Amino acid sequence: MERYQHYIGGAWVAPDAGKWFETVNPYSGEAWAEIAHGNGGDVDHAVTAALTAFDGEWSAMKPSQRGRLLMRLAELIERDSAALAEIEVRDNGKLYAEMSAQTKYMAEWYRYYGGLADKIEGAVIPTDKEAVLNFVRYEPLGVIAMITPWNSPLLLLAWKLAAALAAGNTAVIKPSEFTSASTLAFMKLIEEAGFPPGVVNTVTGFGADVGQALVAHKDVAKIAFTGSDVAGRKINEAAARDLKHVSLELGGKSPNIVFEDADQEAAVMGAISGIFAATGQTCIAGSRLLLQRSIHDAFVERLVKVAGEATIGDPMSLETHVGPVTTPPQYKKVLDYIEIAREEGATCVLGGKPYDGPGAIGGQFVEPTIFTNVRNDMRIAQEEVFGPVLSVIPFEDEEDALRIANDIDFGLAAGVWTKDMGCALRMSERLKAGTVWVNTYRAVSYTSPFGGYKQSGIGRESGLEAIKEYLQTKSVWLAQASPVANPFIIR
Ligand code: NAD
Repeated sequence: MERYQHYIGGAWVAPDAGKWFETVNPYSGEAWAEIAHGNGGDVDHAVTAALTAFDGEWSAMKPSQRGRLLMRLAELIERDSAALAEIEVRDNGKLYAEMSAQTKYMAEWYRYYGGLADKIEGAVIPTDKEAVLNFVRYEPLGVIAMITPWNSPLLLLAWKLAAALAAGNTAVIKPSEFTSASTLAFMKLIEEAGFPPGVVNTVTGFGADVGQALVAHKDVAKIAFTGSDVAGRKINEAAARDLKHVSLELGGKSPNIVFEDADQEAAVMGAISGIFAATGQTCIAGSRLLLQRSIHDAFVERLVKVAGEATIGDPMSLETHVGPVTTPPQYKKVLDYIEIAREEGATCVLGGKPYDGPGAIGGQFVEPTIFTNVRNDMRIAQEEVFGPVLSVIPFEDEEDALRIANDIDFGLAAGVWTKDMGCALRMSERLKAGTVWVNTYRAVSYTSPFGGYKQSGIGRESGLEAIKEYLQTKSVWLAQASPVANPFIIR
């Protein structure tokens, strides 16, 4: 089996404790590689390397040189995107068709922020003081810990790493224990692009040891995290002890709202893509489908037909629509929620059980599942399942749709389907979510800020705004020296 070591200080490093763990292909159920099982010693080694690079070579580089390295990295990503996608699929079981497009597109984040590296301007501040110049400089924070989940490991890393490096920071990355291999393969491109040693480091292992040690490390200035709300809350609490900066991209339970005047066929496809793409394992899944009562029955009938015809099986096949659930705990969680929904009185109109038909060889498949007769106060409507399970909730009118949509602790995204632009604008103003899509679902770009309202997170990724997440502001006062008459009084 292939072995993946840590990448620290520009070198491949065996784990401090000499331990390894297996990474498993969720489709076949077979282990295919061994990953370094890190500990606090490895974390300390990596943070020290990142701090040394930050205090030395990296900060001495011109911003334009840093930008060029990011651009070079973008080219290498495009060259190797298919190979990176294959590793991701081997680890997380998502469709190759999706992952190959995603790994290729991810180059744009490095290109965009590479272009921004030498455009981080300070500002002269108007002042009421005599003969003084006050200006602000935007400076990097230092070492950023980046902790990523298993569903889109490299893309979600790009959202953090590209902006953090452009701003002049260095990084220690901890990928999910379920999907570490692609991040380690990506380190080879970091090396080839010519980043100085220590600028980007990866330590692999589990949340409870490597993750917690990183969050607690005194030389880490900020934690950029994507993952569950449960882990996000723990990280925020731990970071607060040393007043570290944090940005958190957490879960969601996003409403996808269809009005009676909408293009019904477009909305059906939007609802399908909202919940069944990536086997429902996306933070922005439109897992609550809100249907205006007049179209409810016909819409559900069409939805069941389209979802019922999905081909389930090998994620590498371009014919497959729905792949396996990525991890054994996640598989159990999805099936548990299906039971919870039944016990709560929801009606299962499609799926609702493991899939063991043709193409299901690893034993980790769940049929696309749709529940009707869901009330918004049920657990199946309030809690993130992170699987191919859709809750359908009827509504009466715009006001009712807004009430139901906003009655939730999460606020990551929302979809609205209508031909009435007045309705679309009112909804987009009043929906409490970080992203609102009208007559589309899932659009994200390197140019557009992304993040959560309420318990879906803190901070923004992508776009111009995200660079601020990796900068701190220094106010400089510059004056010609002249003795003051009375130094004991503050003026
Ligand atoms: P997770 O929270 O279990 O793990 C995420 C990462 O955090 C892993 O690397 C894990 O090892 C680490 N970790 C866990 N506990 C930790 C701790 N106490 N201290 C430090 N590190 C710790 O999440 P997951 O199961 O890998 O991913 C699924 C979750 O991610 C879902 O809730 C999903 O909604 C969310 N997600 C959010 C976004 C977004 O952009 N908002 C994108 C993708 C996924």
